[in-house]
Amino acid sequence: MNTRVLYVDLLERKSWVRDRSDLFEKMLGGVGVASHLLLEECTPKVDPFSPEAPIIFATGPLTGIYPCMAKAVCLFKSPLTGNLGETHAGGHFATALTTAGYGALVIKGGSLHPVVLKIRDDKVEVKTASSLWGLGTRAVDEALAEPIKNGLQSIASIGPAGEHMVLYANVIVDVHHHFGRLGLGAVWGAKKLKAITIIGTKSVPLPNPQAVKAFYEKVEHEVVATDKMSKYHNLGTPSNVLELNALGALPTRNFRERRFEGAEEMSGERFAETVFRRKVTCTNCPVACIHLGSLLKTFAPDHEKGRTEIVKEENLVAYNYEPMFALGSNLGISSPSRILELIDLCEDLGLDAMMTGSVLAWVTEAYERGVLDEKTLEVKPRWGDPDNVYPQMIKNIAEAKTPFYSRLAQGVAKVSDRYGGRDFAASLGGNSPAGYATGYGHIVGTLVGARHSHLSNSGYSIDQQIAAGKAKVEDIAGFLVKQENWLYVLYSLVACYFSRSVYTPDIVVEALATLGMKVNKEDLERLGREIFHTLYRFKIREGFDLEKEYIPKLLRELDTPIGRLDPQTLKKIIAQYIELREREGLTIRKKEESLAEFRLPQSEG
Ligand code: SF4
Repeated sequence: MNTRVLYVDLLERKSWVRDRSDLFEKMLGGVGVASHLLLEECTPKVDPFSPEAPIIFATGPLTGIYPCMAKAVCLFKSPLTGNLGETHAGGHFATALTTAGYGALVIKGGSLHPVVLKIRDDKVEVKTASSLWGLGTRAVDEALAEPIKNGLQSIASIGPAGEHMVLYANVIVDVHHHFGRLGLGAVWGAKKLKAITIIGTKSVPLPNPQAVKAFYEKVEHEVVATDKMSKYHNLGTPSNVLELNALGALPTRNFRERRFEGAEEMSGERFAETVFRRKVTCTNCPVACIHLGSLLKTFAPDHEKGRTEIVKEENLVAYNYEPMFALGSNLGISSPSRILELIDLCEDLGLDAMMTGSVLAWVTEAYERGVLDEKTLEVKPRWGDPDNVYPQMIKNIAEAKTPFYSRLAQGVAKVSDRYGGRDFAASLGGNSPAGYATGYGHIVGTLVGARHSHLSNSGYSIDQQIAAGKAKVEDIAGFLVKQENWLYVLYSLVACYFSRSVYTPDIVVEALATLGMKVNKEDLERLGREIFHTLYRFKIREGFDLEKEYIPKLLRELDTPIGRLDPQTLKKIIAQYIELREREGLTIRKKEESLAEFRLPQSEG
């Protein structure tokens, strides 16, 4: 296991390494280790944009060894929510960091000038990168890519959105992957960190290579020769479009409707027929779930005498369900090329496509209701974007062009707090929810999750079980707790969420045993719970108060396959969740308040 932690101070431009086997032995790696490093390094109540706010990356004991163990995690203080920032990325980042010789990377301080952090095994440099400032992420990747004879290279960068500290700016990894949510790109922008390049050329030491080889083959069989992950390889998550539409759970036009008349046209099947070009994968993953679509771009109007067949340039753009929903059905857009165009723009500018979609949906509804006028917006947004104004609005957000667009750059909750329309601002815990109008599980799961994501606890999946008559609403709170506790074990290894049906507790115990790590299922269960509690304590320390969280009317009264949600039932499930967590020893409620007094804020908009 790689237990070396690389520390980098961007201001002093110096680095040092500490062995932290104490942490890795106790917490495995990934979120487990990163959560402790975050508590060590992050001063309470620090401004997320202060040089003192740290950025912590971590890999895990199985990184680069077994299939789908390809993710790196990053913890930081989120400028979007003001508490925990947690985001995971694939690509080559995790394996490059591991093969460079590090289990974790801690970035401290802030540079006064744009810089790139270059890691090549033991050589670590902070280099001036003023010429890269202002560039989009594709150009940065091209500028920094080096020819390498062996080893693995990863390049992560921010675009103009991160430079302008848009609170939902992201970090693009190896062109097609992301540290996507909660504003990591803005924190890099505040530190003037334009990019990180990592080249790792070392091997991962194995105590028993024969045992690892045999077990690898067993896991690989589960991954490629069963139906456990076939969905991700075949159509990928875009297959959700038609499934959710048929269920009546595809959020459409700012979550107001749950079936989209353009679902066929924006479906994964139609993307596959019309724009799909090829798939790429994360290091050492046989699944290759990253589907790339062809986006033809005109070089310039009237160029080469209008001969469009030779003046179109092609970008390959990664598409998956979440950006397709956020920039497709939720805006009333169904054309694959229009959706790809908006995704590509977000990627190049370095914006979280999910929050960008939520913001545009809110703006469109606010304009329709007369909450916003054309003078403020400078354009007239309409569902389906018939006037093609969304691309310009996205650029305005990334550059925080006017005081209004600077507000939009703060996310959908903050802009609606300022201009009104909070009750149709799709936000839970400060983050925009994923594309599931499935039921209580998704809403409560996103709200209570440590990173306010559907990947926190798979709440949407128990909704689908309830809709199919296989589970009950009373089961939701227990389901969320159980899922969260186990997922944080996987996120400490660090496994891809898509591989959760392969990496069962038995498989994980066996995988760790091949590396000489003796743990049993009870140990893992305890560990997952402890990690979740640590993350929550950080959130609470930074001011998160679950009882004061607001569920906007469009979500608390969402129309779903099991009927319109009832705010009282939502309240009850949240109370059950709090009770279950408190029984584990995690204090969520303020001491003086009782469950009976717990209330969900109910304002009208
Ligand atoms: S399943 Fe997809 S996202 Fe997950 S590790 Fe494999 S290629 Fe990466």
